[in-house]
Amino acid sequence: MALKIWINNALVDEKDAKISVFDHGLLYGDGVFEGIRVYGSKIFELDAHLKRLYESAEVIRLKIDMTPEQLANATRKTVEANGVVDGYIRLIVTRGVGSLGINPFVCEKSQIIIIADNIQLYPGDLYETGMRVISACTIRNHPLAIPPQVKSLNYLNNILAKIEALDAGVPEAIMYNHEGFVAEATGDNVFIIKNGVINVPPIQAGSLEGITRAVVIRLAKKEGIEVVEKNLTRFDLYVADEMFLTGTAAEVIGVVEIDGRQIVDGKPGRITGLLRKKFFDYAHGRSK
Ligand code: PMP
Repeated sequence: MALKIWINNALVDEKDAKISVFDHGLLYGDGVFEGIRVYGSKIFELDAHLKRLYESAEVIRLKIDMTPEQLANATRKTVEANGVVDGYIRLIVTRGVGSLGINPFVCEKSQIIIIADNIQLYPGDLYETGMRVISACTIRNHPLAIPPQVKSLNYLNNILAKIEALDAGVPEAIMYNHEGFVAEATGDNVFIIKNGVINVPPIQAGSLEGITRAVVIRLAKKEGIEVVEKNLTRFDLYVADEMFLTGTAAEVIGVVEIDGRQIVDGKPGRITGLLRKKFFDYAHGRSK
């Protein structure tokens, strides 16, 4: 079924949802975005996603020509118009139409696009067997480049790391920062468990401040599991008792092998399984 897309302040048919070839989002990756889940017709953690979107925009000096309330309403309308019950929303804000030069201030108005569709998930059996990952050579953005906390339309660093993973025959890669500390995966945050304690890299190590990450940390603490944010190295990953990734699309997924090394018995761990279930219950409104 053809989708209804929110663009230029209205819902239009998918075939009519078009942007200019002079849009700086296309010419320079100049823009920001969010990926948001819908569970049982409810938009998951919308306020947190909007906060991250507006902060990302602020850092790149992009003015979003809608208030957060207007954008929230437009997002709800797009979800309803497409009858999305369980799905995925892509919210995109580009710098808008400009000229061929990179000067962003010649772009008069931001372009806001909202797509609500079904979601492409990892195959279900990957959650049972667990995922294999590699360490990427490509490092996460230096904090003095585009800060990793900005969810920008330029994902090329992460795409290069993803290519490394796919070339190695695994679905994901762990990215490190310029100092060699663990940052995150190409589209997910990373957690390890050692001696019953959850260790998670601080955001300043070069990761996106994941909405799923924050929810999982909260749920873990509620279960009485200690959570420590600290810099991790490849050593820590190699000797971890458990490892898992979190993200909007992936939710909570166990990692069972890194760089060809099996993690303990090569099965997703107990705490990973517990948090996956707790996250599922929370997302589906079965727990607070
Ligand atoms: N890191 C990166 C680079 C991401 O793109 C994402 C989102 N796919 C995440 C982490 C996870 O963030 P969230 O839980 O908000 O989806």
